[in-house]
Amino acid sequence: MLEELIKLVSLYDIDDIDKIKKAYSFAEHYHEGQFRESGEAYINHPLSVAIILAEMHADTETLCAALLHDILEDTNVTKEELEENFGSEIANLVDGVTKLAKMNFSSKEEQNLANTRKIITSIAEDVRIVIIKLADRLHNMRTLQYKKPFKQKENSLETLEIFVPIAYHIGAYRIKSELEDLSLHYLYPEKYKEIEEIKNNIEINSKHCLDEMVYTINDTLEKERIMHEIKVRTKNIYGIYKRLESGYNLSNIHDLLSLKIMVDTISNCYQTLGLIHSKYKPINERFKDYIYNPKTNMYRSLHTTVFGEDERLVQTQIRTFDMDKIASFGLTTYWYINNKDARFIMQKELKEKYQFYKSLLEINKVFGDNKEFLRQIKSELFTDKIYVYTPKGDIIELPKGSTVIDFAYKIHTHLGNTLINALVNDKLVNPFHKLENKDRVKVITNDLSKPKEEWIDAVVTAKAKRKIKTNLQ
Ligand code: MN
Repeated sequence: MLEELIKLVSLYDIDDIDKIKKAYSFAEHYHEGQFRESGEAYINHPLSVAIILAEMHADTETLCAALLHDILEDTNVTKEELEENFGSEIANLVDGVTKLAKMNFSSKEEQNLANTRKIITSIAEDVRIVIIKLADRLHNMRTLQYKKPFKQKENSLETLEIFVPIAYHIGAYRIKSELEDLSLHYLYPEKYKEIEEIKNNIEINSKHCLDEMVYTINDTLEKERIMHEIKVRTKNIYGIYKRLESGYNLSNIHDLLSLKIMVDTISNCYQTLGLIHSKYKPINERFKDYIYNPKTNMYRSLHTTVFGEDERLVQTQIRTFDMDKIASFGLTTYWYINNKDARFIMQKELKEKYQFYKSLLEINKVFGDNKEFLRQIKSELFTDKIYVYTPKGDIIELPKGSTVIDFAYKIHTHLGNTLINALVNDKLVNPFHKLENKDRVKVITNDLSKPKEEWIDAVVTAKAKRKIKTNLQ
């Protein structure tokens, strides 16, 4: 197994293999005699976590920390000893993924809440801590069959509530969809099986339609000499489950079947789009330009849903090869692009471009109590969101139920403070108006106007609440 890790690592970073081997021997030595529920030696778990991360081209420090990630919790080794042996960067990463000590809390619940808060807020300190946690959770979910049924359900629920949203927010879709499917499998085994079967049938029935499209598009792009690659994808089981739950049926889920078309340049993305529309009839309202308007987690692609053979709906996703990496790995793609400085670039991008980041820091600042913190995180960041547009066309992410006031404060404090009313899709509305997905919002302000006390109960975001309160005085 260690060979598997070494082989993966040597594909992209050969300098520090000795350090990784040292971390492995250290972890193996201290976990000696410990076993997982499956009966295998404990070391296989940290090693598997490191392998998941090596597939994402993680840096040496992250891989060492992954190998050592359970050392502080499950053995007598101290942080100081880790520091002596591996330096402070690795010791800090391991400390970051380690649970807070039991004795500091009055109850198990308080300890759990504090630990969840610690994981979520570690993003601000070093996003690699969260990424190691995601890989750790992924391996634990992959090996959940050895746990008791109650634990299986408990872990699956926590995965859906905490880890799936985190993966979504940093754009790590590959991890996200695997975590979703594994969770559903343990929470609702019957439903899972049923949808798995449906999915298999869809794949069999649509094969002809998709083969025809791949053939035609391939041929067209070759004639135009556009360098490309095409992949076929069916929506994941959890994704289909969610759609069916919210009232869709199989024939009107517009992205059940997708063709991912990767090309070399942005201008070829648009040319490809034109070529596809000339062959297959598009549904107008299903066209999305996420290249010039990236999603709030930096996902970029063109989406267009077209009619394939037999009136079958097929979503085509057109993007460059680089964008496709981001579509699978999100923020961690910088490990591929920029191995050496990736950690700093990741932290900087997160701060400047990922919308959930600022809200997270705000919530962390406002809510001292761990329970309140988690409740706000769940309702503001981890549940259903709406996406609305500024007059310039930028996409703004807000929790469901947000008002014009929340929108204004999200953009800028001054805009919120001086808000008098707004135009939503060119219609005049008052500040309390609740926004809906895809609304176009233009705030109308008056510099002499001030926030009102009644606003406090109307808003749902932590920032708006705090800013109204401080500006009332
Ligand atoms: Mn672990």
